[in-house]
Amino acid sequence: MSRSAHPAGPRHADVLPEGHYTGPPTDLNALDSKVWAQTVTRTTDGVVSVGGIDVKKLAEEFGTPAYFIDEADFRARARAWRTAFGEDADVFYAGKAFLSRAVVRWLHEEGLNLDVCSGGELTTALSAGMPADRIAFHGNNKSTEEITEAISRGVGRIVLDSFQEIVRVAHIAESLGKRQRVQIRVTVGVEAHTHEFIATAHEDQKFGIGLADGQAAEAVRRALALNGLELIGIHSHIGSQIFDMAGFEVAARRVVKLLAEIRDEHGVELPEIDLGGGLGIAYTSEDDPSEPHEIAKALNEIVTRECEAAKLRTPRISVEPGRAIVGPTAFTLYEVGTIKPLDGLRTYVSVDGGMSDNIRTALYDAEYSVALVSRVSEAEPMLVRVVGKHCESGDIVVRDAFLPADLAPGDLIAVPATGAYCRSMASNYNHALRPPVVAVHDGEARVIVRRETEEDLLRLDVG
Ligand SMILES: *Cc1c(COP(=O)(O)O)cnc(C)c1O
Repeated sequence: MSRSAHPAGPRHADVLPEGHYTGPPTDLNALDSKVWAQTVTRTTDGVVSVGGIDVKKLAEEFGTPAYFIDEADFRARARAWRTAFGEDADVFYAGKAFLSRAVVRWLHEEGLNLDVCSGGELTTALSAGMPADRIAFHGNNKSTEEITEAISRGVGRIVLDSFQEIVRVAHIAESLGKRQRVQIRVTVGVEAHTHEFIATAHEDQKFGIGLADGQAAEAVRRALALNGLELIGIHSHIGSQIFDMAGFEVAARRVVKLLAEIRDEHGVELPEIDLGGGLGIAYTSEDDPSEPHEIAKALNEIVTRECEAAKLRTPRISVEPGRAIVGPTAFTLYEVGTIKPLDGLRTYVSVDGGMSDNIRTALYDAEYSVALVSRVSEAEPMLVRVVGKHCESGDIVVRDAFLPADLAPGDLIAVPATGAYCRSMASNYNHALRPPVVAVHDGEARVIVRRETEEDLLRLDVG
């Protein structure tokens, strides 16, 4: 089944006509465990709770809008990925999905590694005690300062993204008297999103070095010739919110073919391959993501089979899930403000946040679910569009959903699966104060990223 909207935007998918929505759910009070964090339930008085604390108490203590992250669920998902891939593989959490020092500590404790793609993410990771050798540094335009910092702090690998960067990283490493472990990011000609992938000869995008026209082989040649670099493997990342493993299959086949060519030309078998991230999660009840153990099994089988065919030793595999770990573990809590019924169309429900705390709907046409969480209701379902308070008609949080018809200002509603790419992409548009992230665990709630204040805004504005 195709979906009405696409996380990577309408250009990437078979988009159903605008205004498409599935019918109302049979029970508006139900919480689908696929889209809500593990410990989310409705208590006997009808209020939703997470980590043993009800959302009315949370709203009172921390205000709205706010993100609440289920720490037990985060740790469980991180552990599931770690366990699924085992000792012969590495799981790098993609920090860009959501990074804070508490999260870094959870990852460290659960045995995961970490991907960063900026000096800011690197500093956050190091300051929370992630060992540098468990950090991978990504990016298509790393600055000289970022590369210098990464190498001198001893990051485990830098993923090289261009010919210029090969030389630049080698030069900086040598001048620091170091030999930097690197991978080369290649574009394999696979564009994978959600339910479909397109295999093409060339890729028209800014990341990586193309496989098709021999560019990647040339990059390997240059990297192997430079003293400052220790080339440990090839990296490929094919898309986002992917449910279908077929794209990974094509990518792995093409990367293994390159490994075989490298062996034939240089007599070296590179020891690692990284297949990137991009695994999908359930934003609505229509999504059916795979479990980490199923993904690990599929990827291991693909790589093993391709390597056997090419008579190569199977390299150490690494993966880089971001969304699939943090996405489902958090929800955004909003207070309902104005409610505007448009006859024959839908009802616009305004909340106290919007595109400043969740840009994905505006940016990618992403789909979300929403529920009334401060009480139960037996009222009829009404078709709503949940919108923010920003000066922009595209300021939509949930395009099409159903809420009870007796919804009233002051009710609390929550949007699940906002752990990834929401706080990390949050903005100050209209001088909004970015919401806090509160970790909830076993009856305790703790702010891990505090709410911005007007003082924070004025501190940057030097007048
Ligand atoms: C964004 C990104 C990821 C993580 O993607 P998810 O969709 O969050 O799993 C992993 N690796 C690279 C190189 C990325 O750019």
